[in-house]
Amino acid sequence: MTDLRSDTVTRPSAGMLEAMFSARVGDDVFRDDPSVNALEEKAALLFGKEAALFCPSGTMTNQVAVNVHTRPGDEIICHQYAHIYYYEGGAVMRNSGASVCLLGGPRGLITAAEVESHINPDDIHRPVTSLVEVENSMNKGGGALYRYEDLEGISAVCRKHGLKFHLDGARIFNALAETGEEPAKYAQLFDSVSVCLSKGLGAPVGSLLLGDQSFITRGRRVRKAFGGAMRQAGYLAAAAIYALDNNVARLKTDNDRARYLGNVLQDLPFVESVAPVETNIVIFSLRNEVGSGQFLARLREHDIHALPIDSRTVRFVTHLDFTEDMLLRVESVLKSLVF
Ligand SMILES: *Cc1c(COP(=O)(O)O)cnc(C)c1O
Repeated sequence: MTDLRSDTVTRPSAGMLEAMFSARVGDDVFRDDPSVNALEEKAALLFGKEAALFCPSGTMTNQVAVNVHTRPGDEIICHQYAHIYYYEGGAVMRNSGASVCLLGGPRGLITAAEVESHINPDDIHRPVTSLVEVENSMNKGGGALYRYEDLEGISAVCRKHGLKFHLDGARIFNALAETGEEPAKYAQLFDSVSVCLSKGLGAPVGSLLLGDQSFITRGRRVRKAFGGAMRQAGYLAAAAIYALDNNVARLKTDNDRARYLGNVLQDLPFVESVAPVETNIVIFSLRNEVGSGQFLARLREHDIHALPIDSRTVRFVTHLDFTEDMLLRVESVLKSLVF
């Protein structure tokens, strides 16, 4: 089976399983799990932050950050397609009573000027703007990337107005593989950073939240209240440590394979257009008479699986378990299709 639905579909490799089997564990609620402690220390060091918190999912790391950074009724500025708003079940309202100020903008990216012009004045009629959030790479924007200078600009606006700045870096390593920034320099732009271990890094479960000590201390309390404090989580942390040691450098390959698929798709007669491919996500639209349902059904006949975005748009996501052989087979199947 060739699975291009998501980079979450990977299974632990033999080496990762070995690391999990031999993990030293303890009760992490008592802070007794050496593997979780090692992971949190390693991640904090890597991103140049004081502390880290291991959580079961990226939704939880994002929502813990929202909860610590805001008070009920506060407003969060983010893109209308931000994962924290669009794909997390209304959690910012449900869990934190926060409201949102949704910005537009191509490919899911927001700008410093847009952010600054949407900060509410100090007026009792208006919600208090307290948090700005960006996503890099931008999932629903087709894996789009921010330029470092643009993030510096947004960060400066946040500092100037006393706002917190959160990065949803679910795929931050895919982004850094392209732009070349050091994680430790990059993370200084933000008050908090969320990183997924179960996407391109290939771990089975888990995400990391990074920030200063007082933020993480408060986050640890919120994680407990959200039901995310785990016990012998070291088995999962061991997989995450293995992923950070072994699966970061190879992410460039995933991005390159996505670009290759984008180029193949570009030249096919039944493809209308392909969004620019900057990381490991390819979003493309099919000609009207083809449609995603029919197209995906034809791929399934070859045991190739992908997800529709809408009736004419399809997404491919490359990952650790999508090999060079699979890439070449997908290419030849795509080139053989006639509608
Ligand atoms: C996957 C993802 C998350 C977190 O997802 P979980 O499934 O909760 O781990 C957060 N943000 C973005 C942009 C994502 O793609």
